[in-house]
Amino acid sequence: MSCKAIRNARIITPTGEVRGAVVYDEVTGTITAVLDQKTAGELGALPTDCLDARGGYVVPGGVDGHVHLGGFGEISIADDFYQGSRAALAGGTTTVVDFCEPKPDESAAHCIAVRKQEAQNSAADYAFHFVLSEEYREQLANIDAIYAEGIRNFKLFTIYENTTLSMENIREIFHFFSARGERPPFLIHAEEPEEIARLRAEQNEHSADMRLLAATRPAHTEICMVRALRQAALETGMRVCIAHTTTAGAVEEKRGDTSDFLLETCPHYLAFTEEKLVGESGALYIMTPPLRTEGDRLALWEGMKDGRIAMLSTDHCPYHRADKLGRGFTRVPCGVDGIQTRMLYLFSEGVLRRGMSLRRYVELTSENAAKFYGLYPRKGCIQPGSDADLVVLESDGLTQWNLERCEGSVDYTIYNGMTFQGEIAAVVRRGKTVYDEERLNAPKGSGQFLSL
Ligand SMILES: [Zn+2]
Repeated sequence: MSCKAIRNARIITPTGEVRGAVVYDEVTGTITAVLDQKTAGELGALPTDCLDARGGYVVPGGVDGHVHLGGFGEISIADDFYQGSRAALAGGTTTVVDFCEPKPDESAAHCIAVRKQEAQNSAADYAFHFVLSEEYREQLANIDAIYAEGIRNFKLFTIYENTTLSMENIREIFHFFSARGERPPFLIHAEEPEEIARLRAEQNEHSADMRLLAATRPAHTEICMVRALRQAALETGMRVCIAHTTTAGAVEEKRGDTSDFLLETCPHYLAFTEEKLVGESGALYIMTPPLRTEGDRLALWEGMKDGRIAMLSTDHCPYHRADKLGRGFTRVPCGVDGIQTRMLYLFSEGVLRRGMSLRRYVELTSENAAKFYGLYPRKGCIQPGSDADLVVLESDGLTQWNLERCEGSVDYTIYNGMTFQGEIAAVVRRGKTVYDEERLNAPKGSGQFLSL
């Protein structure tokens, strides 16, 4: 019998909470029924092989729409696909979306082939964004070949070597798709490059004072780009999500706006401020855009609660300590960990400590990303026919976070020493129990590529 169930659960479905059991088929990996307590009792036939949620919540497996696993750049990212996906699963995230970013002169086909090879070790399900670089004209000329590889969403940057696109370039890209009658999802890194270059030129780039990173990438360099991108998206009807939003001003841009212009933020911007950049350990908190002020942090929380922010992604991109420390502020590789703590962090800090609804929690951690990137309702949803990607969350108890809890290859975590309320009790990915009673069972290569 391949039928299994999680019983005694408070199941968060698209239409509300159901108290009862979610039944799924271990072989097909899909949900077969969501039953309330009474119906489950009347049927009297729940499979004997049940996980007991003991009254805890069951939410869809997390969809993290922005992660970086495996190496690119001169310094390797700490987690490869296997290590990072283990951490994802242990933290309740069953689907990750990573990137195919062609190097200069590298063909789209070659880049995609290499990334698919690297991702074969993943234990979580995965999809890719394609980065349209400065060679975007050539890449767009071969767009059908990219689609044929199952990749239909795009990442754009307004900054960084090889990927800097001007607003003119971006409008050209938007018009290209609009002329084809297509509205693919765009995830866009929004920072104004010229102002940042000007501010950096005024500083000593060898300085190890990490506060200079924040000082040379001030809030307005994000806000002005968000404003320009929103305008271009509205004009061309394109679907745009701003990657890793950090500022109160950017959240303000979304007020009253119900269009497909979305904001993503990351747990580190909700958890920390630029005070972490002070002193020698400041380098361990370097990512771009940088950590901001307490006012920005609180505005992001407001946006999370009222829906102006649509997605909580991690931008998981950890480096080993030795690679972060002892460099000038312009030379520190950018990125921090977060893939394993995202779901628990928001459950603790959003739901249990700030009164966020469970519906909103699901939207932010899986549903909205699944919808935006074309994975819904296979992912991001508990209903018959959807993949049985399920997370059991328990409200009682405390989880003390430290390095020993971290899967993957990180040798520090920015969440070290934090106490989260609640815990991730169990995780099911396509019908297989991959995490239960603090034991991870995530075979190498058991993740599936999600062709879009
Ligand atoms: Zn990123």
